[in-house]
Amino acid sequence: MVKNNTTAIIVAAGRGARAGAGGPKQYRPLAGRAVIARTVEAFLSHGEVDAVRVIIHRDDRDEYDTAMSDLLNHRKLMAPVFGGAERQDSVRLGLESLEDAIPMRVLIHDAARPFIDADTISRVIAALDTKDGSIAALPVFDTIKKSDSASQPCIDDTVPRDALWRAQTPQAFHFDKILSAHRAVIGQQLTDDAAVGETAGLAIALVAGSPDNMKITQAEDFGMAETLLGRKTSNMEYRTGHGFDVHAFEDGDAVIICGVEIPHTHKLKGHSDADVGMHALTDAILGAIGEGDIGDHFPPTEAKWNGAPSHVFLEKARDLVADHNGTITHCDVTLMCEAPKIGPHRDAMRASLALILNISDARISVKATTTEQLGFTGRREGIAAMATATVSLPVID
Ligand code: MG
Repeated sequence: MVKNNTTAIIVAAGRGARAGAGGPKQYRPLAGRAVIARTVEAFLSHGEVDAVRVIIHRDDRDEYDTAMSDLLNHRKLMAPVFGGAERQDSVRLGLESLEDAIPMRVLIHDAARPFIDADTISRVIAALDTKDGSIAALPVFDTIKKSDSASQPCIDDTVPRDALWRAQTPQAFHFDKILSAHRAVIGQQLTDDAAVGETAGLAIALVAGSPDNMKITQAEDFGMAETLLGRKTSNMEYRTGHGFDVHAFEDGDAVIICGVEIPHTHKLKGHSDADVGMHALTDAILGAIGEGDIGDHFPPTEAKWNGAPSHVFLEKARDLVADHNGTITHCDVTLMCEAPKIGPHRDAMRASLALILNISDARISVKATTTEQLGFTGRREGIAAMATATVSLPVID
């Protein structure tokens, strides 16, 4: 697989003077979570986006680290780079910073549009199969008036609206084409990246954006954004699923738990790699979305799952959550054994699960307990695991 096939550039270098006091608007909280964190998370959690690079102002490094604290360890998040004097300079510097990574496709998105949805991201990416570029856009329904005087506006003309579209972001391009287009227009002031592409003669598709994909530009926009967020979250509910699994020890020299191999006096016995922690967590996620259990999706009677790495099961559960338009909010795994010692491997396990589930490791907990030498785990005959998963899903009517 080619790495970094699709990289998202989030433009966050603006000073946001129009949004009034309180610093750049992208770092301000929107219902308790920074605008920029909401925006970036939408791209990090998208299955077709391989990497995310944020372009920030050089004065904002501390604000960035604070606002993004729970996302900084996300495997898809690249280190931020500094932008330039104007938005166009910032985007170009962001593109230049990817020259060694050489993504095939790049998505350019404003940090101040936190309501970008997964379907819109998918649509702009899909359009690149046949075009040089594509942008999210909406047809204009309002009648458009033209006035030649800004100070004493009077109608000078009514502009036919049939052919007019409102450009949003993300705007998606083949990386090499938009980079050379940007290099060719240094010093010009174009208002979006599509305009940069147009000067290079790129074929750029208009794909359906979303009316919710608003740009927070002025201080008043925060009120509207909070209302919009309230409407969205009131249509969501949390569901919790539970999972439990046990595997016995057999002869061997290492166990695999939550994707991490730990040297041990035995291995775990099972038809797959016997990753007891990942199995319990997979069942918990499937439980939260009412999709049965691992055995339903990967019957032990089918020889092809023999020795299968358990991330295949967890990836299936992750994708089913996405099919339900859900988001995995939190996972908690408890391992029960006398040995091996789990503590030294907890963070590696969290990172491993975060990588598979496409979420921040801040949303994943792994802990362990002995059973005071009681029962089968106490007799060191095997390992048990329990897990809970919390998923946010659209309300079922
Ligand atoms: Mg199992």
